[in-house]
Amino acid sequence: MHSFDALKINEALLDSAIELKQEALRKKGQKNENLKAKAKAYDGKQRDLGKSIRNNIKNQLTRHPFCPYCGQELYIENAHADHIYPLAHGGLSTSNNMVFICPPCNQSKSDKTLREFLKENQRDEKQVHITLESLGKRF
Ligand SMILES: [Zn+2]
Repeated sequence: MHSFDALKINEALLDSAIELKQEALRKKGQKNENLKAKAKAYDGKQRDLGKSIRNNIKNQLTRHPFCPYCGQELYIENAHADHIYPLAHGGLSTSNNMVFICPPCNQSKSDKTLREFLKENQRDEKQVHITLESLGKRF
């Protein structure tokens, strides 16, 4: 093989290597665009989900305008959204794990489980369970 031919082959290899690299970069760029689009769509879904949860728990105030933990009257202005099974322990932000409660109960419950909170505050656990069940909550 003449060295001239070898040079040609090296150039051709280099060209194809560059093409492959460019193709990879194009694909990566496309992948990033796809990821961005997916993230955006997911974000939109999350917002919709948040809205439906908010609407769902707002319905609580129409059906049962009282704090399910202590019986205090609730208004949209003073209602606090509580994670029945605490977020800090892995509870989910779903409508059946979220309920409106009064500010003092919210402050007192904090990251406690429902059982811990009710026991500590000597609340009627059975009555609270009946109320939560009637509101379609799972706990
Ligand atoms: Zn309360």
